[in-house]
Amino acid sequence: MNTYLRILNYVRPYWKHILLTFVFTFLFALLNGLSVYLTIPLLDTLFQESATKQVVSEEQAPSRTSIFPDWIQSIEKDVTTSFNDFILSGEKSDVLIKICILILIAFFLKNIFGYLQSYFMAVVEYGAMKDLRDQAFKHLNSLPLSYFKKEKTGNLISRFTNDVNIVQSSISATFSNLIKEPLTIIVFLGIAISISWQLTLFAILILPFSTGIIIWIGFKLRKLTYVLQSKLADITSVLQETISGVKIVKAFGMEPFENKRFTNETKSFFKMVLKIVRIRNASSPITEFLSVVIGVFIIYYGGILVLEENVLSASQFLGFLFAIFQMLPPIKELSSVNNRIQEASAAGDRIFEILDTKSDIINLPGAIVLKEFKDKIEFNSVHFSYDDSDEKILTDISFQVNKGEILALVGPSGGGKSTLVDLIPRFYDPTEGAIFIDGTDIRTLTLESLRAKMGIVTQETFLFNTSIKENIAYGLIECPEEKIIKAAKTANAHKFISEMSKGYDTIIGERGIKLSGGQRQRLTIARAILKDPEIMIFDEATSALDNESEILVQEAIERLMENRTTFVIAHRLSTIRNANKIIVIDRGRIVQYGRHEELIAAESGLYKKLYEMQFRE
Ligand code: ADP
Repeated sequence: MNTYLRILNYVRPYWKHILLTFVFTFLFALLNGLSVYLTIPLLDTLFQESATKQVVSEEQAPSRTSIFPDWIQSIEKDVTTSFNDFILSGEKSDVLIKICILILIAFFLKNIFGYLQSYFMAVVEYGAMKDLRDQAFKHLNSLPLSYFKKEKTGNLISRFTNDVNIVQSSISATFSNLIKEPLTIIVFLGIAISISWQLTLFAILILPFSTGIIIWIGFKLRKLTYVLQSKLADITSVLQETISGVKIVKAFGMEPFENKRFTNETKSFFKMVLKIVRIRNASSPITEFLSVVIGVFIIYYGGILVLEENVLSASQFLGFLFAIFQMLPPIKELSSVNNRIQEASAAGDRIFEILDTKSDIINLPGAIVLKEFKDKIEFNSVHFSYDDSDEKILTDISFQVNKGEILALVGPSGGGKSTLVDLIPRFYDPTEGAIFIDGTDIRTLTLESLRAKMGIVTQETFLFNTSIKENIAYGLIECPEEKIIKAAKTANAHKFISEMSKGYDTIIGERGIKLSGGQRQRLTIARAILKDPEIMIFDEATSALDNESEILVQEAIERLMENRTTFVIAHRLSTIRNANKIIVIDRGRIVQYGRHEELIAAESGLYKKLYEMQFRE
């Protein structure tokens, strides 16, 4: 229930629309009631000898006791009398015409109000869900890298799409039900009571019968929906993985394996759906049958009141039955409200899990803005482990890089080089020790100002599915075209961009799939050049490019490094030759430190081995 209240919080800003929904729903219910009430004079007109006679005979009928206080009774009597005077006066054919016109008007207005009510309700539910999605997205963006490593992408996407949809549809169902159905029930209950309170009381007494079963079904459904949603997320995950890894899947001939994986997930989803459908769909027939049982009792008791006790006229009894049967669908709907609330809560839980994840990489209170990078970056006895694991990825890392220097990191794969550079923009924080910029612990700086000083080029060249222009200028609010072109030229990208039919306005397709590897790299380098960061973090691509591309990329990289402080995970001989310092990292420790010439001289060192295996050209 708490989750549901939390969902309703998102509805609150739309209170004006809710108010309008309420007003129109009320009018809708009222006219609905009127249209049923009109059946009584209609029946009288059709089946009595004279309508006027009926009015008189009704007044002579045995006195009906009422549960309403006198003043309500007198209003009721006035309204009924003027209604009857207006409707039932004149010839039978006139009366019939009047009733027909009234029915037309009542239904016309009822439908207009129904339309308005559902429109305003839609504003509430879709508006609230937009806000929820926006907030979740914003929060997701504030979460640290480690969160994204832990959670499957497909699973997260599923929460944003499928779960939000469920919440939205159940909000609409519950909200409109909680407003509309009670109002309808009240109106018809009023009509029923005004006709015969004894009969109404009798009906009410046998109603709560069904509630116990319905509540039980609700709780069962909530549990199952949560499981169902996570199964849907699993499907999305497999789909997402297969699509993004399509090349690997094909290259390894893993299509049958992926197909099997997918069908396993869909099968288990299917089974769960059927389980839910069995329960949810059973709830309707059960309630309906219970309703009919109630109906039959009422017909029997009412029949006796008409036939033996003579307290009701036949038309009133029929009117009463209409009113009671009009109440049944809303009661049935209300009984499903609990199910919907439970479903929404389960889906809501999955969305709120994102919102409730706290980021541990945040601005500390009183964090200061890094205005200028003047002097040096220093690692001081840094240790690091990923999340809850005890495994040390980095052990006692200490070194210093002066402004303008190039630091190359080399070492066997899995040694911890990427992890080390990820600590500089605070993608992760050290488990022990600290990193200083100009003597200030980077954890005391604002994240924005720290990262604004840095450019990052990784092996995975990530491009967005927009124009080349927008990709290069990513992160800059406004950027004159000349600057973009200049950066592209420096990155050796201008030529191939200009050769494209739409030049800088070419849309490059998801993840830049329409470009070659070397072109993608040069675009990301252009992006970094345009940002013009003082500190550059660079993970050199290991994949071999063709010769021409290699030269162009290499040139671009060298220009990018000029006049910057650079951390580079190096795979090329030219890079390590240019570096001011090289640190050799093996199993999380710095095992050698110095310039290329010094390190190569150490005969038994790891560097020499690596050099012979990897770097010799
Ligand atoms: P390198 O860049 O030198 O190849 P990495 O920094 O990528 O090395 O990895 C160092 C170690 O950290 C590896 O053993 C790797 O398995 C582990 N590792 C990398 N990322 C994570 C992560 N998100 N969670 C847990 N362990 C990780």
